[in-house]
Amino acid sequence: MRITPYGASRTVTGSAHLLEGAGARVLLDCGMYQGEKEEKNLEPFGFDPRSLDAVLVTHAHLDHVGRLPRLFREGYRGPVYATRATLLLMEVILEDALKVTEEAFFEEKDLKELYAHLRPLEYKEPLRVRGLELQLWNAGHLPGSGFVVAEGEGRRFVFSGDLGNRQKVVLPDPELPPQADLVLSEGTYGDRPHRSFQATVEEFLEILDRTLSRGGKVYIPTFAVERAQEILFHLFENQDRLVRAPIYLDSPMANRVSALYPRLLPYLSLEVQAYFRKGVNPFEPRGLRHVESAEESKRLNRAEGPMVVLAGSGMLSGGRILHHLKHGLSDPKNAVVFVGYQPRGGLGERIIRKEPVRILGEVLEVRAEVHTLGGFSGHAGQDELLDWLKDQPRVLLVHGEEEKLLKLGQLLALRGQEVALGEWGTKEEV
Ligand SMILES: [Zn+2]
Repeated sequence: MRITPYGASRTVTGSAHLLEGAGARVLLDCGMYQGEKEEKNLEPFGFDPRSLDAVLVTHAHLDHVGRLPRLFREGYRGPVYATRATLLLMEVILEDALKVTEEAFFEEKDLKELYAHLRPLEYKEPLRVRGLELQLWNAGHLPGSGFVVAEGEGRRFVFSGDLGNRQKVVLPDPELPPQADLVLSEGTYGDRPHRSFQATVEEFLEILDRTLSRGGKVYIPTFAVERAQEILFHLFENQDRLVRAPIYLDSPMANRVSALYPRLLPYLSLEVQAYFRKGVNPFEPRGLRHVESAEESKRLNRAEGPMVVLAGSGMLSGGRILHHLKHGLSDPKNAVVFVGYQPRGGLGERIIRKEPVRILGEVLEVRAEVHTLGGFSGHAGQDELLDWLKDQPRVLLVHGEEEKLLKLGQLLALRGQEVALGEWGTKEEV
């Protein structure tokens, strides 16, 4: 077998990897480049989409599925496999992307064509493509997320997709992979372990208590899938010890995803399933209101605290969180809590450094409390990556900034493992 990265090489977005062997050509993920690399979405794939036999998708994040419609635009007509949960979440994510992407590299009709070729593939269900046999194993990163185990020509290959944060509660822990001849692994947090999750939740609750007690607003910029539900779950589990205040989920997309969660139970943790069996939805804490219209959202700016506002986008690249921050960032009563990655040089990073910022045309002093809770990350930390890779003789690293992949690579090499960084368009023998 041979594997060739066509994205996510020394960067965290644009995942796409071509696996060839036993007469088959299978594309693993077909993600969008995001942030400053967005123009790469318009560049050639590096392979002919019409030559593929199948596409296998690890999870629904845009940086793993965002270029799928473009495959169809360029003539691919074969099947696209993923778990049922991934297929449901992917629709919400792609339709949102179609509305907001500036670079029009796909249209509605390409999406329709993609939808007509989606096929469910559950965990451990064998998929035969010519002489290759592929399976998805649980990766614990999103509902329905998987890593790929492929066998052919007497060899075994594993692709990690994105690995989840084992300490968190809403999703099951990632499974350990079987020993393989080559593992293609992510290294997003290859440079450091996460802080203890229990300590993260405790700090979160203290910030909420302090801010709500003084009548302040707590702003939580949040991703619509996974992070929003994770935060709602902890607000629910601790509702008896928190100051009573309304909680606004101010994101039509997050509302849509939250409404899907009860249909995704087999992909959620046993703790979450136990709540649903008792007839309790743990993603609906007391005081939760779902905000749909933009007018209703703007009304919250004039309303008095205390309140909790969860709004997108998680990386402050747009969305309703901006008008909330414009109105509340200069008020020392309030607090901003970052629960997800903030890109270098972005608005979030300047707020964290308490530098004056310009939001929607207005220059603001940051006087609200600002907190970063990295423990809510959806990715495995360095220690978890090392553990997941412990039995693997050969590792190829992708999906991480170069210095993070190099740090992880050093530690793997010290243990005697053979390690290299995946390069765009460079074929590696399995
Ligand atoms: Zn992901």
